[in-house]
Amino acid sequence: CGIVGYTGFRDAYEIVINGLRRLEYRGYDSAGIILETENGNLEVKKTKGKVDDLVAISKGLKTTSKVGMGHTRWATHGVPSDNNSHPHLSNNNKIAIVHNGIIENYDTIKTMLINKDYEFKSETDTEVLVNLIQYFLDKEINLSFPEAVRYALNEVYGAYAVSVMHDDFPGQLVVARLGSPLAIGIGDDEYFVASDASPFVEFTKEAVYLEEGHMATISLESGIDIRTIKENAKIEPAIQELRL
Ligand code: GLU
Repeated sequence: CGIVGYTGFRDAYEIVINGLRRLEYRGYDSAGIILETENGNLEVKKTKGKVDDLVAISKGLKTTSKVGMGHTRWATHGVPSDNNSHPHLSNNNKIAIVHNGIIENYDTIKTMLINKDYEFKSETDTEVLVNLIQYFLDKEINLSFPEAVRYALNEVYGAYAVSVMHDDFPGQLVVARLGSPLAIGIGDDEYFVASDASPFVEFTKEAVYLEEGHMATISLESGIDIRTIKENAKIEPAIQELRL
């Protein structure tokens, strides 16, 4: 299973698809991609099967996008199917998530959200997390997108590497890890996110390996802002030189 994310000036489709191929060795049953189009919409393609199957159904995707995320899934909650594949969207179709790992207490949160009229399109634990982020944004008017992600992560138990996008905040990726790896590649005017450095090592040798319980907000305008998920304490990025 694996995660890839990109924000920069290159063709995000190419970066994400090639990145997912580099992560195929980790094993998976489904694959998906999301791209931010020029008019700010989110376009999703996902399927049970291999990255080649994803490419086959993605022919119609505009390749002008400079921002995107991809996922290879190793199903833990819900059978391998097109519907259960990632990315998952929130009820208002504004927030998208890719997730590796397990949300242990998804059932309790799902019940809470269903009682508040949220609808679920998949059997995954992951879809609960993206709707919980929407829930906090709807509930607290002045809450920022990264703060809503942080609030949601503080409600879940389990293991995760996640990457989240919001179509009101173009070019921004919010990522976090607890128990699953996540690396951020730092280029000139571009950032990469991946389960390991292999998807981006041909483009940059500078990386930050996100530490346990940390999250990062990434954008071209503001760079990388790393926080602890629990206390929102600011962390200076420890940039490493890759020797690959
Ligand atoms: N638990 C999630 C699911 O079953 C993510 C699995 C993964 O790590 O790929 O969809």
